[in-house]
Parts: sequence; structure tokens; C-alpha cells
Amino acid sequence: MPLELVTLPCLADNYAYLLHNAETGQTALVDAPEDHPIQRALDERGWGLDLILLTHHHPDHIDGVEPLREAYGAKVVGAAADAHRLPRLDLAVKEGDMIDVLGLKAHVIDVSGHTVGHIAFHLPEIGAVFTADSLMALGCGRLFEGTPEQMWQSLLKLRALPPETIVCSGHEYTASNARFALTIEPGNAALQVRAADIAAKRARGEATVPSLLSEEIATNPFLRADLPEVKAAIGMAGASDVAVFAEIRGRKDRF
Ligand code: ZN
Ligand code: FE
Repeated sequence: MPLELVTLPCLADNYAYLLHNAETGQTALVDAPEDHPIQRALDERGWGLDLILLTHHHPDHIDGVEPLREAYGAKVVGAAADAHRLPRLDLAVKEGDMIDVLGLKAHVIDVSGHTVGHIAFHLPEIGAVFTADSLMALGCGRLFEGTPEQMWQSLLKLRALPPETIVCSGHEYTASNARFALTIEPGNAALQVRAADIAAKRARGEATVPSLLSEEIATNPFLRADLPEVKAAIGMAGASDVAVFAEIRGRKDRF
């Protein structure tokens, strides 16, 4: 199936994603940080907007919903648990649900941690997962509502997806994430290479997302909290996975 994925910079450092099925002419959007850049991207391509998938309730992911719904008649999908603080949902979903996105299967995964009720959408037929502020390129979202245990369990679910999965996350925080990751694992050769690549991409003004799950597994400190070498590197040999994850998250908050 000919499917096009467009990464759309919005606001200061957010990303939204467009998915377009050239066969049916249908288009879906993941998150709506603001309406104008999204409307411009759609209009330039002559696309409508059929579906808006929402990952979580923060304004920088939903503020564009109402004008886009109005302009294109798009249907809105979001977490049932967050229906009270999301724009009006046409479809309320939960962990384990399988929904249709442009004729493709999309699995709903609860990835609570950044917020409680944050969801991700995994589309196995195109090998992509939309993670917003859960798993990010070399990072993970700050824990505004959930516990370290919740976020760690969420990250483990994402880590278990096929390694060739494309991770479509919600922000351009990667350069800062890379500088932080190097403080945790200065000796990680794959991380050193990736950090240099990220710096070069940013110098050229290029997006560092989507990323590959396999490179996150090799370099993202938040996905690596259960590895003995990571525990040892931060002086927590023998500590529990969650305690190590919480320590790394705490260090990032103060970075
Ligand atoms: Zn957020
Ligand atoms: Fe965000």
C-alpha cells in the first residue's frame, strides 16, 4: 500500500505527523500542536484530513484540533481515560484496542508516565509507532503525572516492538538528550556516533526524528536502565531496574 509519512515541525520544537494513503486519498494526523502549519501542509498537497489521533492532553498536542476538525471534518481519536480533558472524541480508545487508520491496523498502547492516560499508536504494517512524549529520540518525557514504575513499564512495552520500528516522537529535544545521555554512558560507542550525527543534523537544520527503535535500544539511557553496565556506570550496581530508571530520569530533570 502506498503510504506517505510527513514529519511536520510545529510551535517551537513540536512534531506532528501526517499519514497519507495515495490509493484512497485519505489522510490522518497524529497530534495537533497548532492548526496553521498543518493546514498549510495539507493544502500544499491537496489533501483533506479524515482522522486526528491524539496521544495525550497537553496543549502543545491538542490546541490545533478544533480549527482542523472544523475545516476538514476530521474524526478525532483519543484515550477514553482522558476524554474529560481532551477535545470531543469521536472514538475513545484504551490499551489493547485495534483501530482502523487509513485501512491499516493500529494498536493502542497505554504509555502512561509523562501523563496518566498517554497512549501510543503502533502500526505494524508500516513498522511505525507514534510515541509523542513517552519514548523520545534519546530521551523520554518528564514525569508530570505518572510514577517512575509506570514510565518504565511503558518503555518496556515499546522496547518489545520489532527493532526495525520507526519511532515517531513529539519533540526536537534530541541534541540536549544526546549531551545528557553521554553523561550516563560516556563510553557507549554507538551513542558517541549517534551524538555526532545528531549535532551535524541540527547544524544543517534537519529533524532528528523519526528514529529507529534499534538505535534507541542501543543508545537511549532510559531504555537501558536494566543493563548491568548502565547500573554500574551510575554507581548503582545491583539496584532495581525501576530505581535506576528513576535515578536517570531525576538526573535529566536537573541537567
Ligand atoms: Zn506533553
Ligand atoms: Fe509535548
